[in-house]
Amino acid sequence: MSIPATSPPSFASLDLHPATLENLQALGYHEMTPIQAASLPPALLGRDLIAQAQTGSGKTAAFALALLAKLNPRRFAVQALVLCPTRELADQVTGEIRRLARAQENIKVVTLCGGVALRGQRASLEHGAHIVVGTPGRVMDHLERGYLALDALGTLVLDEADRMLDMGFSDDISTVVKQCPAERQTLLFSATYPQGITQLADKFMRAPVRIEVEAADTGPKIEQRFYEVTRANRFETVALLLNHFRPVSTLAFCNTKQQCKELVTLLQQQGFSALALYGELEQRERDQVLAQFANRSCSVLVATDVASRGLDITQLAAVINVTITPDPEVHVHRIGRTGRAGEAGLALSLASMDEMGSVGKIEQYQKQVSVWHKRDELTPTGKGPLLPPMVTLQLLGGRKEKIRPGDVLGALTGPEGGYTREQIGKINVTEFTTFVAVERAIAHDALRKLNAGKVKGRSVRVRFLEQTTQ
Ligand code: AMP
Repeated sequence: MSIPATSPPSFASLDLHPATLENLQALGYHEMTPIQAASLPPALLGRDLIAQAQTGSGKTAAFALALLAKLNPRRFAVQALVLCPTRELADQVTGEIRRLARAQENIKVVTLCGGVALRGQRASLEHGAHIVVGTPGRVMDHLERGYLALDALGTLVLDEADRMLDMGFSDDISTVVKQCPAERQTLLFSATYPQGITQLADKFMRAPVRIEVEAADTGPKIEQRFYEVTRANRFETVALLLNHFRPVSTLAFCNTKQQCKELVTLLQQQGFSALALYGELEQRERDQVLAQFANRSCSVLVATDVASRGLDITQLAAVINVTITPDPEVHVHRIGRTGRAGEAGLALSLASMDEMGSVGKIEQYQKQVSVWHKRDELTPTGKGPLLPPMVTLQLLGGRKEKIRPGDVLGALTGPEGGYTREQIGKINVTEFTTFVAVERAIAHDALRKLNAGKVKGRSVRVRFLEQTTQ
């Protein structure tokens, strides 16, 4: 079924509980996104779906509302399972489900991903979970050990199915699906339709409705510019681009970890706030890097393709292809990360002579001619170095100390802190530590006040989070 992208109807046209509709209004979801308008009616009728949707399209709410509508909160058993390719995506999906479930009574969502001890996850499952969100490998671990049972499952979601296949999760997915009851609804979301997706669908789905929404939201809103560089001036050109365009948040792609490290060192030496993200980082380091980039206290994230998978940062002003990928599909994925949610995006690509073949392949794939600009056009604009708007403070205490975001916000916006809500950015509470972003102008003052005052009735140690990951 191909649905034309006409003006989307409101959620009120759906058979949703009034409290859910109210909550959607409170969340600022006034009308459905095209993927929601196309998926929700058949999904709410219990049909299986194969939906083509990108991150940023509102796909999470599309499946979350469908699975929540069926859920029986009084039944303490796992009734919905969402499989995701990465931990970051699983965390985002969990967050979105929790927000959407606020209108319903006490719905428990548990995230099961690698990199965290099994024991805590097992305990969370034992306390009763209605919904499980996780990566296939870890979900399988729990199934094998008997910590997780799926016999009450009503909805199975495969999110970013193409990415899961890319990452080699095909067998794990099959194993998990075989443990789900045959009588269930299966919702599959994927940005692309490689052959493996059709095979998955044939094996595990019942007469699925196909949803394709015209991707009117990419393409034109992303301005692509190409620059010819040499091996010697490539990294330097990244600095020129940053000083010229001054994007608040930039994701710069390199092909190798070594390149990531070298570029970050050069950028840091030039006074930029830059961090590297690559596969071998420890989970703790990865969390720190992502927290700083997402809360806008780091201007540039230099990443490999694999490391950046599942990363969903909505306010990305620019993407830089530091090297051209030989795979045109990867190029499209990379640049699709900017210009989301109606905002203009900038995709800047650096190509040396030996990469012109790859540029040609990209042109063919995108059916558009590359627009080339000259390096000489790149002149510094604005005053002083490009600085991120926020600074991250680290509190030495986290979930173990029962710290919640509201406690930190309270300390900063209460009588002792005296700041406004707008001066405080994202607050991430992890097991042992808490990151809070504050406006650059108040950073020193906020650090002093937090160190002198109390959070949750207790003194805490607070410091600036240092921007070194090497
Ligand atoms: P997703 O594609 O699921 O990652 O969603 C992208 C972003 O859009 C998330 O931050 C959602 O909270 C937001 N969103 C989803 N649906 C709507 C809607 N109908 N109206 C406004 N924002 C939405």
